[in-house]
Amino acid sequence: MNLKDRIYRKSPYFLKVLLLNFIGLQNKKQRYTKDFEKYLEDYKNLWDADLIKVEEFRDKELKNLLLESLNHSKWYRSIKEEKGITDDMIHQQPIQVLKKMPILSKNDRKEKTLLLENTSRITKAIGYTSGTSGSPTMNLLDKESIEKSFALWKRFHWSLGIKPNDKHIRFSGRILIDPKKNKPPFWIYNRPENQLLMSTYHLTEINMDSYISKIKKFKPVYIDGYPSAIYILAQHINKKNIEFDHNLKGIAVTAETLYEHQRTEIEKAFNCNVFNQYASSEGSPFITECKMGNLHINIDSGIFEILDENDNEAEPGTIGRLVVTSFRNLKTPLIRYDIKDSVLKGKNNVKCKCGCQMPIVDQIIGREDDILWTEEKGYVGRMDTAYKGLKGISRGQILQESPNSLVVNIEVDESFKQTTIEEFTNNLKDRLGSNIEICINIVDEIPLGPNGKFIAVKRNFEMEK
Ligand SMILES: [Zn+2]
Repeated sequence: MNLKDRIYRKSPYFLKVLLLNFIGLQNKKQRYTKDFEKYLEDYKNLWDADLIKVEEFRDKELKNLLLESLNHSKWYRSIKEEKGITDDMIHQQPIQVLKKMPILSKNDRKEKTLLLENTSRITKAIGYTSGTSGSPTMNLLDKESIEKSFALWKRFHWSLGIKPNDKHIRFSGRILIDPKKNKPPFWIYNRPENQLLMSTYHLTEINMDSYISKIKKFKPVYIDGYPSAIYILAQHINKKNIEFDHNLKGIAVTAETLYEHQRTEIEKAFNCNVFNQYASSEGSPFITECKMGNLHINIDSGIFEILDENDNEAEPGTIGRLVVTSFRNLKTPLIRYDIKDSVLKGKNNVKCKCGCQMPIVDQIIGREDDILWTEEKGYVGRMDTAYKGLKGISRGQILQESPNSLVVNIEVDESFKQTTIEEFTNNLKDRLGSNIEICINIVDEIPLGPNGKFIAVKRNFEMEK
């Protein structure tokens, strides 16, 4: 924890409000610049543009990224020499040059951040990505990286009819309020950014009503953040038949895998659509859901390669892992970065009716360690379907410790019956095979993982290649 965080943690509530509003003001100054406005305008135009035009833009951005990175970072300069790449080659065939670049692993990036650094740009901010294990990855950002990232994000909102300064509620992994606090407020209003930050660490049964009445009173235009947190509220709203008559433009979720049962529950509770957004804090390009419910690869934010296990391009309609090249982080670039997430590749040439011609993926499957593996069934993704039809489980966590053993932690409510365990076991065996040993534990509370994210599924062993 850095000094700023330590001071914040120890401060009383009124000081926390002041500190957060101060940070909000700084953010606003750094983000809403003239250049930001220009980027946003460009991105908006690209959203509706002909695919050829978007691809031209993509190639131009790729050229810039390669020219700068290969000439101004130690690590990439050595690769440029080794592969015999010239500036002319980048100008003429940027995509071919990209294919020559090595795939960058998470560890490589972690260890070589400073070698990757583009020395022609000035650092304006440093972000840290705390992974599920080990030390954090450092992420350097320059002015353009901050503005472009923010503009891409606001373009996503714009495509849903949300304006840049619209009033909203955010559920993030930030520890806003002392986790031991047991009386409201469990939130802080950040005036400069017109957002009510709500804690994801106090969403217990006892506190639900105070959260819901605050949301009703605040009347947000939209809600964004972690789907697992919004889902907890939604479950309560549906269970108690609480009427939510306020008109929301939508709920934009990010940072965690969104499961279908969460989407259904949230849409029912808040009476609006959920829109999924994929982008990592490491600075990956974006995949965003449009008004028609399709997930568009924002090819003006970077290049997504969808690869099979042999590093060849995955077939349409199959699951592939993402290797990303991003145009939004120019200070510590992501070039063919193995981000450990996978998607279900869409069929070729499917056109979306929303007007955006950028390509579509069928589903964001999630993190690599979201996908379980058994000898009997091979890779098994999307375990959320195993909960279908079960009553009384309010939250569950599936941990695979070895190819033949599974530990499941569940939080239950008053409608839970002992027979649910049997049904659940059968559902799990249907998916993972009959040989797997399953241990289901009823627990009071499933603790949140790093960054306050809820871990729904995790494979705790490495796959041998
Ligand atoms: Zn669309």
